[in-house]
Amino acid sequence: MSSNSRIAVIGTGIIGISTAYYLARNHGCRNITLIDCGQPMAFTSAQSGENYRNWWPHPAMVGFTNRSIDLLEEVALESGNRISMNRRGYALATRRTEISDLVGQLHDGLGADAERLLRYHQGAASGSYHGFDKPDWEGVPDGVDILQNQDLIRSHFPGYDPEVQTIIHIRRGGDISGQQLGMHMLDFLREAGARRVIGEVQAISQGEGYRIELYGGEGTRTLEADRIVNAAGPFAGRIARMLGVELPIHCTFQQKIAFEDKLGAIPRSQPFSIDLDGQRIDWSEEERAMLAEDPEFAWLAGGMPGAIHCRPDGGDRGSWIKLGWAYNEAPAEPAWEPPLDDNFPDIVLRGAARLNPALKAYYGQLPRGMHHYGGWYAMTEENWPLIGPMGPEGAYMNAALSGYGTMAACASGELCAAWIAEGELPDYARNFSLARYDDAILMADLHDANKGVL
Ligand SMILES: Cc1cc2nc3c(=O)[nH]c(=O)nc-3n(C[C@H](O)[C@H](O)[C@H](O)COP(=O)(O)OP(=O)(O)OC[C@H]3O[C@@H](n4cnc5c(N)ncnc54)[C@H](O)[C@@H]3O)c2cc1C
Repeated sequence: MSSNSRIAVIGTGIIGISTAYYLARNHGCRNITLIDCGQPMAFTSAQSGENYRNWWPHPAMVGFTNRSIDLLEEVALESGNRISMNRRGYALATRRTEISDLVGQLHDGLGADAERLLRYHQGAASGSYHGFDKPDWEGVPDGVDILQNQDLIRSHFPGYDPEVQTIIHIRRGGDISGQQLGMHMLDFLREAGARRVIGEVQAISQGEGYRIELYGGEGTRTLEADRIVNAAGPFAGRIARMLGVELPIHCTFQQKIAFEDKLGAIPRSQPFSIDLDGQRIDWSEEERAMLAEDPEFAWLAGGMPGAIHCRPDGGDRGSWIKLGWAYNEAPAEPAWEPPLDDNFPDIVLRGAARLNPALKAYYGQLPRGMHHYGGWYAMTEENWPLIGPMGPEGAYMNAALSGYGTMAACASGELCAAWIAEGELPDYARNFSLARYDDAILMADLHDANKGVL
């Protein structure tokens, strides 16, 4: 591909921006147009929890996210950590002592490296546990610490439910500023001569190259390109259909809350914490009875899934916290306006209070400045992304990044750019392309595996 090829990237969320960034940076592409109907990083990418980790139940996803974290580290180093990358890991807590299924998943993801990367702290070996007093991403061991020594758990995680028996501490994890990552890449793209165009893509036709019909911004017009990239986030399915392609993507709506932890309920050094156990939400008996009677709300009175999560936000000197719970699995047509559920703040607060009981102090009195927000997970059934050729020659996709698009942005941008520029492809390239659907054994395997939706 010539470096003068006209490349149009549809979508300036983190995925479109990262694709353009690696096209310019790794392949010298200079004729890139970034199209969006809104401002960059303003749709799904503005709703991200901005967490990252290399914990997945399949080696392809482990390799992919490890590569992405390597690239995030490069950005952190070259930008003086503009992206505020930290590394206190992911702490997965459970009240169980029998965890062979969880250890099995770790082995599935880490493969032959598991022996080297899993460290058990049950008794005498506890002294080797590397603490997490500092937020810095450098100098933290890779791998996973499995804590079952109760003294060790209580001393490092004093705020947790005393019933917690096991903590699986994924060390290569933390959070970043996704917005700053996008801005860093946009600054580079500006220097590299990329253009930004505001407009909604309404139709695409293919002849010699592509004709993209844009509406809005400076009026209706047509833009021509040799190659196009579909990075339209939740609307990637719609863009693909403009070219007669049906992508196996659906969307689910997920919500979070953030608020100032004025009462200091969550220690500032607490890692991103996930309560793995299912639960019944902490309602009073009367509340539970009322909910159970109402067909619309009865589900809230019964068992809820695990994976509620909580973390400090804004650094060690900040005072905000974020809570999330991706329990909604119902596919829905994506919309520009977020369908926020007014009950979500109370639901997630009570759910999170199970692992961090000090949060109970906020029952019925969440701070007024509480921010309730949400966005769409665009995902495939098996929760793997779609990156690579989309069908018609010269058309590519970088989509279905579900709840991990911020952490995977660098590797997915790099991978999509390599497909477009016909560069060298990494081992995992085929896994994330449409070609995986031809591999019946892989697909059956993925359907059985833990999808790891967070
Ligand atoms: C609540 C929530 C929490 C999350 N937490 C995390 C997390 O902790 N860590 C993590 O790694 N990931 C997380 N994610 C996932 C991550 O935010 C997404 O995977 C990522 O932002 C997707 O980026 P994108 O560029 O594909 O989509 P978007 O950011 O949605 O960008 C797509 C862009 O395409 C534009 N567009 C669409 N259609 C058109 C059209 N027809 N014409 C012109 N422009 C168009 C849109 O305006 C938009 O700007 C979370 C997501 C949600 C919803």
